[in-house]
Formats: sequence, C-alpha cells, structure tokens
Amino acid sequence: MHIYRGNIHMHTRHSDGTGEVEDLIAAARKARLDFIILSDHNILLDQSGEGWRQGILTLIDSEINDDDLQPPGNHCLTLGLRHDVTPHARDPQGLIDAVRDQGGLTFLAHPIDKPGPLSADVYPWQTWNVEGYTGVELWNFMSEFRPYATSKAQALLVGFFPHYFTTGPFPEMLAKWDTLLQGRPTPAIGGSDAHALVFRLGPIRRRFLSYLNCFRAVNTYILTRTPLTGDLALDRAQVYEALGHGRAWIGYDRVAPSHGFRFHAEAGDGAVAQMGDQLHGQGPVDLTVRLDRPGHIRLIRAGQGVVAAQQGDRLRFATDRPGAYRVEVWMTRWGKPRGWIFSNAIYLVG
Ligand SMILES: [Zn+2]
Ligand SMILES: [Zn+2]
Repeated sequence: MHIYRGNIHMHTRHSDGTGEVEDLIAAARKARLDFIILSDHNILLDQSGEGWRQGILTLIDSEINDDDLQPPGNHCLTLGLRHDVTPHARDPQGLIDAVRDQGGLTFLAHPIDKPGPLSADVYPWQTWNVEGYTGVELWNFMSEFRPYATSKAQALLVGFFPHYFTTGPFPEMLAKWDTLLQGRPTPAIGGSDAHALVFRLGPIRRRFLSYLNCFRAVNTYILTRTPLTGDLALDRAQVYEALGHGRAWIGYDRVAPSHGFRFHAEAGDGAVAQMGDQLHGQGPVDLTVRLDRPGHIRLIRAGQGVVAAQQGDRLRFATDRPGAYRVEVWMTRWGKPRGWIFSNAIYLVG
C-alpha cells in the first residue's frame, strides 16, 4: 500500500474564499501535500485546471448548498465530478443521485455544526432521510472555531493560534458517525474548509487561518494499491477510489504527521482487511494498530464505545464480535489532549 496526504474542502475567490488556485497550490507545496481537492460553493471551476501542478495533484470539485434553505445547511462535498451539479442544489436526494450517476462521491459537509457567541449562523446537514450518499466530513477544521470565539479579541487569538484551541471532531459528530456505521459502511474524510479570510479589528486587518495554516492542520491520508503515476486520469481515479472506499484516515498534522499509522485486521485463515474493507468469516480476528511515535490509542466498536485502549505505539485486540471497528489516537499538546488520528472503520462481518 502507498500513502498520500491531501487536503480536501477549500474555497477560492470564485466563491467565498480570498485566494486564487495558484495560492492554494503554493500553500500545498509549502505544506508538502500530495493532493488538494478544491470545492467552491455552487460552481464547478474550469477542470482544465486539474493536473499535477508544481508537484501537487490538483483536483477541482464543488461544495453544493441550497442558499434558500432556512435555516441554512445541507452543504455537500461533491467529488469526482465530470459535470456541474449546481442545478440540483435545492434537492439533496437529486444531488446525491446526480453525482453518483456520473461516478462521483458525496460527503455531507460539517453535518453537525455549532453556533458561537459571535456567530449564530450554523450550517448543519438537515435532510437526514436521504439515501446513497458516500459518507461524511467527520472533522471540519473551520467549524470547530466558532464556539471558541467568545469575543472579537478571542476570535483574533483563535485565528492566529488555532492549535491552542483545536481539539478534534465534535463529540456529537463522532457519535453520529458511530450510529451511521452501525447501519452501513460510511467512509469519513477530514476537511479544512480553508477560506483564508481577512479579519478586521479596528486598525488591524490581517489574513487569518491562511491556506498554509489550514493545510498544516486537518488532512486526509489515503492508501492506494499502486503508486500514483503522474497521469491525471489514473491518479484522480485512485484518489477518489480510496476516499469512496474509506481506505483513508484523518490526521491532525499540527500534532505530528501520521504517515506511520497502520490499522488492519487479520482473520485466522490469513485474510487481511484494511480500513474501509469488510472481513467475512468465523473465528477470532486480530485487529492491530501501529504508530511511529507513542500516542493514546483507542479502538472503538461503533455502538459499543472503546473496547481497547493503550498508551504507546502499538495495540492488538482479538475479537469474534462483528461490527465496525475504528481507531482514534490522541496526544497531549499545548496543555490538553488533541485528536491526532481518526481512522476509517474496518467492518467485521459475522
Ligand atoms: Zn460548507
Ligand atoms: Zn466550505
């Protein structure tokens, strides 16, 4: 398996961000990413801009939202697009179906969203009776800040020193995901929702949560069966295949890069499952987690909670109970525990 690290969910000045595509690519180079996936609101930018640009696999997709919805919400990351799906913005099920018809993926963006003292606006997913979407954006880096910004001065602190505040996905979102995982395989991704907004406080006018800041934070790591080749069509397909299958994990890179993370399951007959896979069969299965530096490892069975925990760089757990098993790794940094790694699930099928 080959590991690539990318940032998903970002906005240029063509919707409500402030930068150009070139600014995103420059920041991605500095952050040493392998790929980025653009997602401007309700527009599909010219996809002739896709390709390996300055060493970054640059993919152009959309975030589709119904601007008339009151209260607002239902933002959907539509990935692997070939045609603009903005005409379906007011019909979430029609949108999901239209994206799937063109072989694309739909991830519900910031499905659980929380207001803050300065900003009551929230954009949660609302239409939960939709079917056939790919998965969820488990951790939206930007959403987390709203509740922390309790005053304008505090907002400034949050904007410039986000690592002192950032903790992890909302607990309610993790719980929601566990509920979804008990129903069907549900891949998860992390999104930065980078806008590079400009903050104004009196005479101060500064860009905060820059693209670079965001690209050094919540990233999504994918596993591919063969190395990326430099060919856009082949590599694009590999990235979406990994994301759509859930052969991926979310890494919070302000804590540390997580290229050394491994999580797999092995059955008694030697069959091995990676994240996103289903493992069929009888008898005990060994679940193994490995890290390249110590952390607080939690193995979670969706619906049951933590079934094993270990401080260190390795965890092994044998079980014959079917279910969706996933891993969280936490580390104490800047005075409190920070979510470092959130894996996709391995599905043990009895
Ligand atoms: Zn959004
Ligand atoms: Zn967004």
